[in-house]
Amino acid sequence: MRIFVKWCGLPWCMFAGSWLFQGLDVDKYVKDATPVVPPEPIVELKDADNDVIRRLLNELRLLISLASITAWIKKLGLRVFIHGSALPDPVNDFVKAALAGGVDGLVAGDFVKMSVESVNIVSTSAEGSPTSYVMVDSLSIGANVPKSYGVILMNAPTDREWLIGARDSLKALGVKEVFVALGADQLRPDLVKNITDVLDGVVIMEVPVIVSLGFDERPAYNVFRCSNCYIDFETSGEIRKCPRCSGRVRPIIKPWGRYVVLEDRVLRLKGLEEIKTMRLDPPKTIYL
Ligand SMILES: [Zn+2]
Repeated sequence: MRIFVKWCGLPWCMFAGSWLFQGLDVDKYVKDATPVVPPEPIVELKDADNDVIRRLLNELRLLISLASITAWIKKLGLRVFIHGSALPDPVNDFVKAALAGGVDGLVAGDFVKMSVESVNIVSTSAEGSPTSYVMVDSLSIGANVPKSYGVILMNAPTDREWLIGARDSLKALGVKEVFVALGADQLRPDLVKNITDVLDGVVIMEVPVIVSLGFDERPAYNVFRCSNCYIDFETSGEIRKCPRCSGRVRPIIKPWGRYVVLEDRVLRLKGLEEIKTMRLDPPKTIYL
């Protein structure tokens, strides 16, 4: 049985959550922080009962959504923080998914215990300090903004002109970086694209569900990606070279026998590397 990405609110999804497959009878899987394109398979299971499948689909959907939206915003050139209140349980799984997407930091607040060491904790304090970020309600812009390195705009209109005005007035006060906090319904590609050259970054306040997953009884085909032609070749066999340019291809889905749990730091680095080589549009898919 294969589980595959049915739809993604973005041109591609960043896969995260391979660790959920441990203990199951797995044939093939996709490594964390690998970009996949609908309808590519993410795992092939020998057999699994319905309860297991339902739990897997639910958790994977959210993990992949968080990794994907993070990676997408990074690809657009913005920095990305995630707010502690956005992280469902188990928190560590979602921190890992955010790391797969290349997240820059976690605004922990009182929501996440400081035991999370794998991610950079964004320093915030009400008074502000030369190294911290303060969260400022957009209504109080112009009033006393505490002196701080960065400002996170809360409840801000996503109107471009308004954000430019707010940014300029904050930067005139000596603020180095201006982020905007966005809820699930604001984390849309069109809206985020519209502010990439305005702000320094985005704080994810809620995980938007941007992925739907499906499963069927068919075996998962193999997927090889040529980064030169930017084509995904789908085949039941193996290919070593790109049929078009003879360049090297890399397998997107791998035998479970070679499963490696990526350490958090490695995961983030892999995510960042993938984001660099990905393009904003999906690879073309060819069936061999
Ligand atoms: Zn090629």
